[in-house]
Amino acid sequence: MSIYLDNAATTKPCSEAVNAALKAMTENYGNPSSLHRAGLDAQLMLDGARKTIASSIGTESSNIIFTSGATESNNLAIRGICSAYGKRKKKIISSSVEHASVDETLSDMEKQGFEVLRIPPRENGNFYAEDFIKTCDESTVLITMMYVNNETGYILPVQETFNIIKKRFPEIITHTDCVQAYMKLNLKVSRLSADLMSLSGHKVHAAKGTGVLYIKKGIRIIPSVTGGKQERGIRSGTESVPSIASFGAAVEKLSKNIDERYETVSGLKKYLTGRISEIDGIEINSPESSSPYIINISQGKRSEIMLHYLESRGIYISSGSACSKGQQSGVLGQFGITGKRADCALRISMTAETTVQELDEFINALKDGMENLRG
Ligand code: PLP
Repeated sequence: MSIYLDNAATTKPCSEAVNAALKAMTENYGNPSSLHRAGLDAQLMLDGARKTIASSIGTESSNIIFTSGATESNNLAIRGICSAYGKRKKKIISSSVEHASVDETLSDMEKQGFEVLRIPPRENGNFYAEDFIKTCDESTVLITMMYVNNETGYILPVQETFNIIKKRFPEIITHTDCVQAYMKLNLKVSRLSADLMSLSGHKVHAAKGTGVLYIKKGIRIIPSVTGGKQERGIRSGTESVPSIASFGAAVEKLSKNIDERYETVSGLKKYLTGRISEIDGIEINSPESSSPYIINISQGKRSEIMLHYLESRGIYISSGSACSKGQQSGVLGQFGITGKRADCALRISMTAETTVQELDEFINALKDGMENLRG
């Protein structure tokens, strides 16, 4: 029996998601663009998922575009806005702790002549809305800010920042990568003053390979993928009906009890940090106010060594600073976690189904590793 504590990387699909995907593959396998009955059945599945996801963020179906995942959603948002509105306005504002799918895209925009300001946290490790707002001016085309950081769980002040920006500079387009916040916090696009929002299916117990870009009515996006004009021409290509149906089914389930699950996971975080504080030599890198779903710690042994040791005990976690296979992303450094502390970081990410027994087993294995491993 394995203990899976890597839910920020991906989640186990729930049975509702699996059943929906199975139905899409065995019964409703038509092409949703086909005009016959089989196509219509597939189209109805898409419509259902679109409606569920739209209503979960407080919008209408027509504002939801299905993509292959949040990486594509982030690319589409940034590239699409820069193409549509970036002829004269050349400034983009972001944070210094974004996921690579935002950060790398911004680097591309820099090569295309845009000026990108990546606002860092202050010395105390916190982000402040005013630090973003004071950089805005008439030349700013876009602000893109993640809601919850995927490495530490830090919650950025997206709502406050966007609310103020929309009052002072209504022309600036606001985009938020909500991958690690969706179905964990109650997100409504109007409350956030978000023009664009990226979501990912596989982080919320749906199949991999599907995501959403919410686009507020009236916002123009130049497509990156052209072809058969699916998804209102904004993202051509036959939709992945099984994955999308699974996304809808998972959201249908999870949206019913976001607050209860948050409470449960907060209790688990409290328990885990309590147990961790009993162990000498562990530092907690996530602030207390971070999302309870993600806890980043440093434990004195190189992340990969400890990760593989835990794996040998049947426990799956991530090294705390990896954005892709062992490569450090530099995000922890932005939060002031550097040197050995960053090299020894681990990310534990839970769900409401995580049990105290599993956390106990993790703690026991971690303790053993800290005592016995070299490096
Ligand atoms: N944004 C954040 C904050 C993430 O954590 C991830 C995945 O780890 C992504 C974007 C990319 O999502 P996807 O795997 O759906 O492309």
